[in-house]
Formats: sequence, C-alpha cells, structure tokens
Amino acid sequence: MRDPRYDILFEPVAIGPVTARNRFYQVPHCAGMGYRYPSSNAALRGMKAEGGWAVVCTEEAEIHPSAEISPYVENRIWDAQDLPHLTALTEAVHAQGGLAGIELVHNGLHSPNHYSREVPMGPSHRAVDSGDPLQARAMDKADIANLRRWHRNAALRAREAGFDIVYVYAGHDMSLLQHFLSRRHNDRTDEYGGSLENRVRLIREVLIDTKEAVGDRCGVAFRFAVDELLGADGITAGGEGHDAVAMLAELPDLWDVNVSGWDNDSQTARFAEEGYQETYTRFVKSLTTKPVVGVGRYTSPDAMVRVVKQGIMDMLGAARPSIADPFLPKKIETGRIDDIRECIGCNICVTGDNFAAPIRCTQNPTMGEEWRRGWHPEVIPEIKQRERVLIVGGGPAGLEAARACGQRGLEVVLAEAGEVWGGRVARECKLPGLASWGRVRDWRLGQLHKLANVEMYLASDLTADDILSYGIAHVALATGAVWRRDGIGRTRHSEIPGLDRGPLLTPDDVMAEGFDDQALPDGPVVVYDDEGYVMGGLMAEVLARAGRAVTLVTPAPLVSAWTQHALDQPRIHRRLVESGVSIRLNAVMTARGADSVDLACSYTGAPDRLACVLLVAVTSRLPNEKLYLDLKARESDGTDIGIETLGSIGDGRAPGTIAAAVFAGHRYARDFGEVIDPDVTPFRREAIEVLGN
Ligand code: ADP
Ligand code: SF4
Repeated sequence: MRDPRYDILFEPVAIGPVTARNRFYQVPHCAGMGYRYPSSNAALRGMKAEGGWAVVCTEEAEIHPSAEISPYVENRIWDAQDLPHLTALTEAVHAQGGLAGIELVHNGLHSPNHYSREVPMGPSHRAVDSGDPLQARAMDKADIANLRRWHRNAALRAREAGFDIVYVYAGHDMSLLQHFLSRRHNDRTDEYGGSLENRVRLIREVLIDTKEAVGDRCGVAFRFAVDELLGADGITAGGEGHDAVAMLAELPDLWDVNVSGWDNDSQTARFAEEGYQETYTRFVKSLTTKPVVGVGRYTSPDAMVRVVKQGIMDMLGAARPSIADPFLPKKIETGRIDDIRECIGCNICVTGDNFAAPIRCTQNPTMGEEWRRGWHPEVIPEIKQRERVLIVGGGPAGLEAARACGQRGLEVVLAEAGEVWGGRVARECKLPGLASWGRVRDWRLGQLHKLANVEMYLASDLTADDILSYGIAHVALATGAVWRRDGIGRTRHSEIPGLDRGPLLTPDDVMAEGFDDQALPDGPVVVYDDEGYVMGGLMAEVLARAGRAVTLVTPAPLVSAWTQHALDQPRIHRRLVESGVSIRLNAVMTARGADSVDLACSYTGAPDRLACVLLVAVTSRLPNEKLYLDLKARESDGTDIGIETLGSIGDGRAPGTIAAAVFAGHRYARDFGEVIDPDVTPFRREAIEVLGN
C-alpha cells in the first residue's frame, strides 16, 4: 500500500473551524463551467474529492453584478438565485468527504461588465484591463461601504450553500482588493491610498468582515499574489508582498499564495519547471502560524514531501495536476505512483476557459465530461463481449485507444510503423522546452504494459492487404498526419508558386531522426508560420540555436498567435527575440524565388522581398488517410472484406491538438460496441429554465 515516506502528505490540517483530511488542496481554478454549466461543474469538483483532494475549490465567484467578466464563464453568487447551483457543488464535494471552498471576488478594473452594463469600479480612475474602451471610476466611501456589504453578504450566502472555506482574494491582478493594494492602480489620497498600511486597509477590513460573518463555521482563506514579476513597478516578494503578509499574518485561517498575473501563476512547462514559485512564496511560512498553500505544478510525490518537510508550505496546492489526474492523492495513498497521469504543462486546459467553453485536458480526456458524458477518469465499463480490435498507429490517439480498449477488456493488437512509440509526441518532446509532452506517451505505455490483453508491435507499417489478412473484425486507424509542402495554410488556400526553387523543409524534416542543419546551404533562413500555434516559433528557435540567421514570417499580427489562449505568447515572442530571431508580422508569402521570398502586407497587399536560402514551411497538415481510403474502396462495391467496423481517429481523421487526438482515442474505446446514432446529440446538456414574463 502506501509508501511510509508519503505519510506526511496524509496528515490532517486545521483551517479555522474545519479540518482538511490530508494536505492535497485543489486551489480555485477556472473550468469554463461556472454559472452556465452548474451540473457539469458539480460533477467535476465532486470527482476531485472522490480522487482524494481534501479541499476542492470553485473558480472565482463574482459577488455582485458590477463584478462580472462575461463572456468568461466563472461562478456567480449575486443573490439567492445562485444558491441551488452552488449547493449542488458543495453536496457533490461533501459526498466524497472533501471540503468545498469558494473564491469570492469583485474583479474591480478587470470587470468590463459586458452583461450587467454596470459602470466598472476601481481604487482610482483607470482603463479596464480587458482592452475595452471603458474606464473604471474611482470608488468613493459609499462604494467602499457597498463593496464590504456585498462581500459580507456573499460570504453568508456561501455558508448557506454549504461551503466550508470562504476566500478573500487578492491575486492575478484580477481582483479589486489587489488593485487597492497596488501602487500602480491606486493613487488615492485618502486612508485607502498612499502608504502600504493604507493600501492594505480594504483587504484587512474585508478579512475581518468575512471572519465575523462566517468564521464560526467556515475557514477564511486569503489568496494573495506575493509577487507580480514586474520588479519595482509591482508587488515583490522582497518588498511590499512580504510586508503585506507581515501585516495580515494571523488574520486569515489559511494563506493561499502565488505569483501574479495568471500568465505568471500558470506558466507552461516550456518556461517553468515544477516548483517554479517556491523562490517567491517560501518566505510566507516564516511570518504566520496559519497553514500555507502554494502551487508550482507538482506531480511528483517526492517533491511534495520535500516542500512540506522544508517548511515551504503546509498544503500542496494544485490546479493543473488535479485536472490531469483527479485521482493523484488516491494513487499516492494506495501506492500506485506509476499510475499518476502527470500534467504536461501545455495549458490546453486554460484555452477552454479563454474560449468560455468547458475545460479540456491533453492528458485527461475525461476532464469536463464527468456529467455530460458520464465519464469517470479511472473507470470504463467492461465490455460485454470480448472481441478483437486492431489499432494502427502508436501516437497519442492510437495509444489512448489501445489503452482504453484494453482497460475495457477487449483483445487489442496495436501496430506502429516506426521504431518508437508516441507518434508526434515522440518527435515534438525533443523540441526546446517540450520534454514533458513525452508524458502523453509515457503514461500510456506504462498502463499498456500492465495489460495482458494488449499485444504491441513496432516496425509494422501495415498495408490494406496486411490488415485484411489478419481477419480482425474491428479496425481503428490512428495514422497521424504530415506537414504540407505546398504552402496551403490558414490564410492561403492555393499553392504558393515556386516553393521548390530552393531547399524546402517542413517541421517533419527538422524533427526527423538524423536531421543535420549543417548539411544545408548557408544563408538566411525564413520560417513561414501560417499555422499560428507553437510549431512556427519552435522551428525558428531550433534553427536560431543552431547558429542560423532566421526570420519568422507570419500573416498574423502576433507570433504563435493562438498561444495567447494558453497564456505563453508573450514569453514565446521574448524567447525568439532573445534567440536572435527576426520577426516579420502581418506578411503573407506570395511566391518563392531562387534566393528570396515574396511577401505582401496582410492589410494593404503592399509587396516586399526577403532574402531566403532555406525555407521552413509551417502551414497546415494533411491526414495520412490512404489506408482508410484503400479499405473503404475495397468495401465500396459491397464486398465483405471481413471488417465489421472501421474507424479513423485523431490526426489521421483531421489534424488537431494532441488533446483532440487523445480525446478521439478515448472516445473510440468508450463508443466501442455502442450503436451511435449521428442524429442524436452525443451528450447530456444543461437545462436552461424559461422564466417567462
Ligand atoms: P495522432 O496524434 O492522431 O495519434 P500521430 O501522428 O502522433 O497521430 O501518430 C500516428 C502514428 O501512426 C505514427 O507514429 C505513424 O508512424 C503511425 N502510422 C501511420 N501509418 C501507419 C501504418 N500504415 N501502419 C502502422 N503505423 C502507421
Ligand atoms: Fe496539464 Fe495540459 Fe492537462 Fe492543463 S491541459 S492540466 S497543462 S496536461
């Protein structure tokens, strides 16, 4: 069972009047569900509690209509209408023995109030930070009194809904209380501005209000950003962050500390290692006797033990590790360390929230599907009839399909053309900063090796004849995709003329085993990124690191534009500049010459020319669908080719994210043996009540 080394992680921790059963603490995190998908949210949070998290928190819960951030779907606790939703959530957490926490927030100048149309408010006259042409007005004393009353009433409603932990929140630069604390946002001359003592005043008042209102039954947590990574322009762990903790040290029942804004708190693995926040947050425990929660994408139980023993934190805060594996605590508790599905730090989970859509996860395909599809991260119904299934392709889609089919009890044969498992992740995890992406392969291989009913074959490049000769009735093709060599991409829908006038590479070439940039001709390199996710930037980084003069050209107004939604776009841009890459935005490639590329401005069409000896085209991908089309062609004349079901999944169906491929593989296994009616919505939907006039 449990390794005694990890016993310390299972000690209870008192948080004011309530006690957490162990040290595992799911800090508040967005799930794109909130008030709009309350049943989904309740099931998601309940699943974390089932997986052993002692404390499970909501996303931020707006306390008032003047505090809302639509279109993002957070929680709301404006009035009694919100209570049934929130009660369903606390009941789901309590049913599994967890404590439920709620992060109350007024978003201050982070609230454009698109839905409520209330005038935004903040400590001083400032533009709202959403980019809208709106300003927050400076709050007067009546506003401050209102704010305190709204927060107090929200805390009382939270207690009524059954919450055990109620937050006061000053983090991520998204909270009015942090705005008051910040010299940047607060230039008041009254007792709420000026000295740090004055700027902390509102936080102190709200903490006292909350304790008085609910402190008898609920622990009062304070989530505080101790550093904004802005140097002298912001709060710093060595300056006002430290001093604010000293001033408020014993007031909250628990300190939940991190760095701000969200892009610093949730850094991708490309830019931050496990434990990256320790440098900033480790001082907090020296100033308070109250329990301290910290985060840092911890997935290793040894690292967790270390931070507790070293006195850096009392409770292991986690958002992403709890998303990738809701059963992480249970697995440590039952000695199943190898089964932990480790977060890869890709922030696909964050993109869900940024699209106001329910959360998804690369590693955990059941994330967000707990209620609407009834998917459990650890359990898949056993198959009634033990049948054979052949899965072709050992990338994320094929590995997950084989693993989940194996878990269901099917007789699985998994064949992979290459010499190694992992498909695209085997290649992509060798790119700078992406080593942890290999966990997508590693976890699945670890699980597959435990399944006696799965046979696995490398170096097996199957043809249609091979497949038919096996006589296996169920076949799933997970054959992946290749990068296009014709220039067709996001903006351009026809071939770019002259692409073959000089050496042309795609990411497949650069990532291929044995790729040697030294064998390529000297001279300027152009990476043309008409895809917009990570690959264009990565190609430029790889070649610049190899000493080449690289220009990254993209029709988009930003480098790796889609990574904005995963929060690391500014870091990617900075890294490229620091690597010596020249950046050319808003430029479409129209043609290639012998030693140049022709460009046109995305807006005006104005032509330009750039020297180019070596071109790397990162445009879009084509599915490897030949096998699928061959097999389909053989049965098209009505011939019985001995295949009952033929599936095509993952990038081989339509290239997308790794998360989409893993999801496709998982869904294949879940759907196996079911009659799927394409006219029926494949999941339950939340009901919206019609209230009438
Ligand atoms: P996905 O992300 O959809 O899993 P990948 O490109 O990562 O796609 O993986 C697809 C895998 O399928 C690759 O490792 C590739 O070698 C393998 N593959 C493609 N065609 C065949 C085939 N005919 N037989 C066996 N394996 C194949
Ligand atoms: Fe981790 Fe990526 Fe899953 Fe988010 S989506 S929890 S970063 S693996």
